Amino acid sequence: MRLLEYEAKNLLSACEVPIPRGKVFAINELQAIAAPIVLKSQVPIGGRGKLGGVQIVRRQSDVESIARKMFNLKIKGFLPSKLLAEEILDISREFYFSLNINRQTAAIELLAHAGGGIEIESQDTAAFFRRDIVNEKFESLADELADYLDIADKAFLLQDIIENAYRCFVDNDCLMLEINPLILTKDGRLIAGDAKITVDDAAAFRHLDWQFEDNSTEHNFVILNRDGAVATIANGAGLAMATVDAVVASGLVPANFLDIGGTATSDKVLDCFRQITTLDNINVIIINIFGGIVRCDEVARAIIDAQRQIPDLPKLAIRLSGNRESEARQLLAQYNLPLFDSLEAILEDIS
Ligand code: GDP
Ligand code: MN
Repeated sequence: MRLLEYEAKNLLSACEVPIPRGKVFAINELQAIAAPIVLKSQVPIGGRGKLGGVQIVRRQSDVESIARKMFNLKIKGFLPSKLLAEEILDISREFYFSLNINRQTAAIELLAHAGGGIEIESQDTAAFFRRDIVNEKFESLADELADYLDIADKAFLLQDIIENAYRCFVDNDCLMLEINPLILTKDGRLIAGDAKITVDDAAAFRHLDWQFEDNSTEHNFVILNRDGAVATIANGAGLAMATVDAVVASGLVPANFLDIGGTATSDKVLDCFRQITTLDNINVIIINIFGGIVRCDEVARAIIDAQRQIPDLPKLAIRLSGNRESEARQLLAQYNLPLFDSLEAILEDIS
């Protein structure tokens, strides 16, 4: 499960990783919010900064109107039910910092970059600082990282952050923990400016106190490979598995398994797209639906509707077959979405 920023920051703060002072609020609690502040939309997706989901508000008279706008602003299909209001930080530098599970070495891996913030995806991947955390040797790791980030005088602060974030990761059964940006303030503090945490749902039984907002309504979504470039949506577990297998057989890397189930309403398709957009490397979404009871034209309408709500969705490659297929073909053609005759045709097209 992916946590919202404020939930992730609460976990970090409980482990003594510094976070900005702030509070989360719903629209009916707007009166208590005082400028100057940064307002941040609590949606389970990154890239909010570029889409109006992070706003610095200096004047009290602007707070209400900007906050109301943000509550009504959909970000990649998500509408926030809460905003986070935080102190404005005086930023000197922004770094990228994350902990992930390195499945090859069965270790927790620290990944960092000297240029954090909103443009991290465009950074040269070779330039990342990448180390498995072994034997919990935090002091030497902190020294190395401080050198890499060119903040040697902050090694002791970094060591606390690495150690505490690591403890947060382990204690909370995280699958990933990202701080981007890790902010160096002008007065020399290191603070988690943004936080993204995914916890392992399978560990929920160990955390009876977990009470996170449930962002996902679909439970048939399984991430296979976060680096995979091909996302899949199919109906029925058998067809969904066969679709994933076919992607592998054609030499491509499937990112996920997703069984959309027996009905495909626009809300459900939208929900699938949202889950897929939490993956960073997707360049095509294969939709493979067999229309038996479910009507292909209804699925087509749902796809068109959902696609309109997420502007920067990756390319769609659609195969709908069966009940009302030709109606679906006509509908999709109006939106420049060609219908492929078979999954093979899709795979040939994209590989
Ligand atoms: P994201 O775009 O969803 O990753 O949201 P972030 O929380 O990472 O915010 C995006 C960017 O907004 C950051 O990289 C900062 O440059 C900027 N930002 C966020 N908080 C502050 C702040 O307190 N002060 C200043 N000056 N900039 C901020
Ligand atoms: Mn960020």
